Amino acid sequence: MARKIGSRYTAHQILGRGSAGTVWLGEGPEGAVAIKLLREDLASDQELVGRFVQERAALLSLAHPRVVGVRDLVVDGADLALVMDLVRGTDLRTRLERERRLAPEAAVAIAADVADGLAAAHAARIVHRDVKPENVLLDMQGPLGPGGAHPALLTDFGIARLVDSPRRTRATKVIGTPDYLAPEIIEGLPPRASVDVYALATVLYEMLAGFTPFGGGHPGAVLRRHVTESVAPLPGIPDELWQLLLQCLAKAPASRLRAPELAARLRELLPGLAGLPPLDIDEPDDEPTADDPEGGAPGARQEARYPAAEPEGPPRGAVPLVQGATPDSNRETHTSMRVPGPDELAGGAHGTARTPRAAGERRAGSARHRSAPEAVRRRRIKVGLAAALVVVAAAVGGWLASGGDGEAGDATPGVHRSEQPPMTP
Ligand code: ADP
Ligand code: MG
Repeated sequence: MARKIGSRYTAHQILGRGSAGTVWLGEGPEGAVAIKLLREDLASDQELVGRFVQERAALLSLAHPRVVGVRDLVVDGADLALVMDLVRGTDLRTRLERERRLAPEAAVAIAADVADGLAAAHAARIVHRDVKPENVLLDMQGPLGPGGAHPALLTDFGIARLVDSPRRTRATKVIGTPDYLAPEIIEGLPPRASVDVYALATVLYEMLAGFTPFGGGHPGAVLRRHVTESVAPLPGIPDELWQLLLQCLAKAPASRLRAPELAARLRELLPGLAGLPPLDIDEPDDEPTADDPEGGAPGARQEARYPAAEPEGPPRGAVPLVQGATPDSNRETHTSMRVPGPDELAGGAHGTARTPRAAGERRAGSARHRSAPEAVRRRRIKVGLAAALVVVAAAVGGWLASGGDGEAGDATPGVHRSEQPPMTP
């Protein structure tokens, strides 16, 4: 069922379906390509098409072996298509679903590849904003690297920013996982390169552990954990790798490594990781409880829908979450919300969140670090408290969103939209 895309490309068969559209195996003047045909509702949005065309040069400019290149942008009648390099393989999400945990060497090799891709993008002043396993493609035809890992390539650069429009996000709400969102985005600061480093560290943690550091349960709880909780250590993880993870999961963006340093440090670690088996880690207990009906443990991943704004409270009071609100250009719309200073983001002002170095040194100081089930129980109590606040806050957030038509700004990246109605908390 061949389909013509513009005058130069033919789409032959569907490779996969994503949230923004369908990816086809296609052919163009230079041979085989992947063609992402954007969803009809996106392609028919003139404003969105305009943004794509405007960003065409930037989209096409990023050429790097660890980045899935965009070769062309086709606007043809009702079609809006991105023509990309074809990667013959699978994505990292599929691999993680199959294997759950990867051997440290393979995980680090994949993360180093992605860090290389990010380094190139950041040098070109492009922030990805949606680094997650779904956007890491594994080239099964490429040479095997350390730990038997296939080369990894990062895809969907800039797409999150282009597709997430205020209007759309408000109209359709959001769906997906906030597992990879850096705390400063949640706090309403503009996303800089360091958000990609945080997201990549989250992906690396997930490759090692089988679950993300702050995932599980209600998305509002996940967002709160990013801002306030320290990351639970992984039993058996080599210390240098752990320290690197902690540094890149720092609450304060400035404390994180930059992508080129991260890539270099990861590659330095590779020889010492050779032959190590995947970590032997107990799955977190993620059974629902009365406090946390959706299960609050990390790894209790679920794709819940949630309302456009979901501030929740303790221990800080109003934590400004920015679903459906403009974080940077329109901060005054967050009437009772404020952007914390770097010290607060780093955890200096309150309880569980800490600077990464302290987290490594003071593991015994946190219940989470002594016993995962105990930590989970404690967290559920907190989540229970937070859930009550979410109910109130969601109502306020909904009101803010409905009142702020043109003001509901930059959507949170990494969170996909859905046509389905939002979940009422
Ligand atoms: P979205 O980002 O819109 O959710 P994806 O980019 O994840 O969609 O694409 C959906 C599917 O298409 C995925 O399963 C992915 O493996 C496949 N795919 C995406 N881009 C390519 C590509 N360049 N080459 C080969 N397959 C791809
Ligand atoms: Mg994608």
